[in-house]
Amino acid sequence: MEFNNFETQAIRNQMERSQYEEHSVPMYLTSSFVFDDAEDMRASFSEEKEKNIYSRFTNPNTTEFINKVVAMEGAEDGYAFATGMAAVFSTFAALLNSGDHIVSARAVFGSTHTLFTKYFPKWNISTSYFESDDLEGIEKLITPATKILYAESPTNPGIDILDLEYLGEIAKKHNLLLVIDNCFATPYIQNPIKFGAHLVIHSATKLMDGQGRVLGGVVVGEKELIREIYLFSRNTGPSMSPFNAWVLSKSLETLAVRLDRHCENAEKVAVFLEKHPKVNRVKYPFLLSHPQYEIAKKQMKLGGNIIAFELKGGLAAGRRFLDALKMCSLSANLGDTRTIATHPASTTHSKLAENERLIVGITDGLIRISVGLEHVEDIIKDLNQALLE
Ligand SMILES: *Cc1c(COP(=O)(O)O)cnc(C)c1O
Repeated sequence: MEFNNFETQAIRNQMERSQYEEHSVPMYLTSSFVFDDAEDMRASFSEEKEKNIYSRFTNPNTTEFINKVVAMEGAEDGYAFATGMAAVFSTFAALLNSGDHIVSARAVFGSTHTLFTKYFPKWNISTSYFESDDLEGIEKLITPATKILYAESPTNPGIDILDLEYLGEIAKKHNLLLVIDNCFATPYIQNPIKFGAHLVIHSATKLMDGQGRVLGGVVVGEKELIREIYLFSRNTGPSMSPFNAWVLSKSLETLAVRLDRHCENAEKVAVFLEKHPKVNRVKYPFLLSHPQYEIAKKQMKLGGNIIAFELKGGLAAGRRFLDALKMCSLSANLGDTRTIATHPASTTHSKLAENERLIVGITDGLIRISVGLEHVEDIIKDLNQALLE
């Protein structure tokens, strides 16, 4: 039976049952698989047969996890990785050659930015950056060597929204691969392939797991591109472990219900913060005050669970606020059941020069909240007492 509804796909796209007829899928913690005879082994290695050989290549648990994400994103194929960064790195490493050029949004995940600035130049791969509020500037950056157009939306931690449809048009016009890191939205909220993305990357560590337990990454998209990424990965070894795939595949079964509540809570927290006298401004995609509200409504089903807000009083106020929180966690993760607060200027983005920080919207008083699944009254109560401290 084929299912088109997201929730049903997430739950009923399961691997085949074993002879034990288990209801919940088992874990296949095995590094390798056996062959019936020499001919079976030959046919499996030559890919005439679709058979698991070695868990660095494929494993039933990782295949199940990948298949779910492929269905959720409306992709053709996918591959799973040990971490989100392994997925990001392997995608570029598999598809680019020395001399190639990337055009990327400046506001990308910190380690992705480090790949572009510190590591890719070692292999003669260069990157040019566009600002979130200047998509018209993208075309000026494209050269004959440009191969990939790369972006995230919503951005971290500025919560800017990039028009995916526009990025899709630019990529098509200039024959570039559009690669979108869709981690903040999840496939439940936004499907970049619909807007022209060729590949979609997720850190499964965040909302996909949603409970702060395991690391993981996944890339889905066009079959031929995934084939290149798969071959690169099966030889270099960044693959997802079967255990993590089992955990993540279970997590996806509840992604829709978790996201509904995450976003409902986040919207209430955003409205509360917007009215608070100690807060200068709030960035949340589904607040009318968000500069790209119309684009957010066009491409996102819900507003997500991440809020950025600016405290009156700058750096000192930001640190005081974090110290005054009684329930919310101070942690580098996001997309957990537990509400998490961070102060990017003194932590994740402290290595950027001040002018660079300001370009991507990280002011000294900026706080990022990953709204969790506690009762929203308790989240608001904790934020309020910390704001009044
Ligand atoms: C966390 C994150 C990553 C990296 O994922 P890891 O699983 O931590 O390696 C990449 N992109 C975005 C947007 C992220 O939030």
